Amino acid sequence: MEEDMTPVTPDGEEKEEQYCSVCGRSSANAGPMLKLPNGLNICQDCMQKSVDIMQERTDLGKLFQNLPNISFLNLGDLAGRAPKKEEPKKKAPKKTWRMSDVPAPHKIKAMLDQYVIGQDAAKKIMSVGVYNHYKRIIQEDLHRDGKDAPAPDGQERVEIEKSNMLMIGPTGCGKTYLVQTLARLLDVPLAITDATSLTEAGYIGDDIESVVSKLLAAAGNDVSRAEHGIIFVDEIDKIARKKNTNQRDVSGEAVQQGMLKLLEGAEIEVPVGAGSKNAMVPLRTVNTKNILFICGGAFPGLEDIVRERLNRHSSIGFHADLKDKYDGEKNLLQQAKTEDLRRFGMIPEFLGRLPVVFSLEELTEDMLVRILREPKNAILRQYEALLAMDEVKLTFEDGALRAIARKALEQDTGARALRSILEQFMTDIMYEIPKDDSIGEVVITEEYLEHRGGPRILLRGQG
Ligand code: ADP
Repeated sequence: MEEDMTPVTPDGEEKEEQYCSVCGRSSANAGPMLKLPNGLNICQDCMQKSVDIMQERTDLGKLFQNLPNISFLNLGDLAGRAPKKEEPKKKAPKKTWRMSDVPAPHKIKAMLDQYVIGQDAAKKIMSVGVYNHYKRIIQEDLHRDGKDAPAPDGQERVEIEKSNMLMIGPTGCGKTYLVQTLARLLDVPLAITDATSLTEAGYIGDDIESVVSKLLAAAGNDVSRAEHGIIFVDEIDKIARKKNTNQRDVSGEAVQQGMLKLLEGAEIEVPVGAGSKNAMVPLRTVNTKNILFICGGAFPGLEDIVRERLNRHSSIGFHADLKDKYDGEKNLLQQAKTEDLRRFGMIPEFLGRLPVVFSLEELTEDMLVRILREPKNAILRQYEALLAMDEVKLTFEDGALRAIARKALEQDTGARALRSILEQFMTDIMYEIPKDDSIGEVVITEEYLEHRGGPRILLRGQG
């Protein structure tokens, strides 16, 4: 077959004049011909044209263009004519992690502190977990390249286990925000998914492996970048095993089972640029071994399980204590153990693959006030910047911030409520202020927030 495609040169073995079966020109005019089966010849121009048409104008061509490992022949090469060489696409060099790329835990925490208020214990545990995770990747890379330091006394290399994490904390306390901030600071791709949307393969919903596809998209389809990224699975408590059901549990235990191999490390074939494997899209293989999985959930009711365990333990044995000793205890989630999570409905194999477990605190009024004011991109700063563009100074009285925090607490959605509450009060101000050039400063008062008065308006030069 290949021989058939070799060009026939006029001064080669074939002495006869050749004619192109498409345009009819002779080899004297059209140059060397390609010989096709059944005695047909085609000149290079006609062949190139047909390939171009297929490549550029048809959907099929577009599909082929996107397929990896399929490239179109440059017919000039076959005919020995000067080839129109395309610049080869430069592949991004594979990032090799070095210790200098990974900030020490105290530095990771200090970076997180600039954005996330409170949650000190969680930030500390997370910083160490992430640090260890990337150390593990470095160790594996060195080992693969044979640059590993020899183990002392000829012992086998100690394999560092993956430090996937499980975060427990009420809604709106900063779980997602922590992970987002972390990924941004480390400059690694992040995919966020909701466990409730995941189903076992074959059921309606996103199959579990679709999260890897999302990560690949976040990494700009760069497989090696995706393989060092972070996947955050939110609402993980919603896939707890349901108690007392005999029905097949599509959204619960089966999804936990389905996630096991992903958490540990598996080669997953994922579609590029689409959420589904059914579409005619190319597949890439992504290894999840070095992807950091962080799962988060509110785990409602877990506190009761912890309290019950603690009370049970304190009321039996030699050191028997009051059997309701822990009834008034706050922040019981900090004391949650694997056995509590098992009782909640998480399966042991799943928990075994999330060795770093920690909880976040419920936000208090003080913390909410700090969230309004302190982070680098604090909401108040955003409004200040907006009004500064109208050359108007915006200030908030302390009492007003406390009033916003109190209103947010009532909504029970953590810091998430802050923006919408503030938006309600700021809309009028942002509508009215640009009408009047003489306004130089607006002070948001507690009375305004409590509907007992308005904001204080100062005219320019009144200061
Ligand atoms: P969840 O814990 O439900 O994942 P999020 O992390 O999505 O909550 O928080 C919602 C929003 O509230 C975040 O985008 C962030 O702006 C703000 N927020 C929540 N907790 C904090 C915090 N501790 N510090 C600063 N901002 C926070």
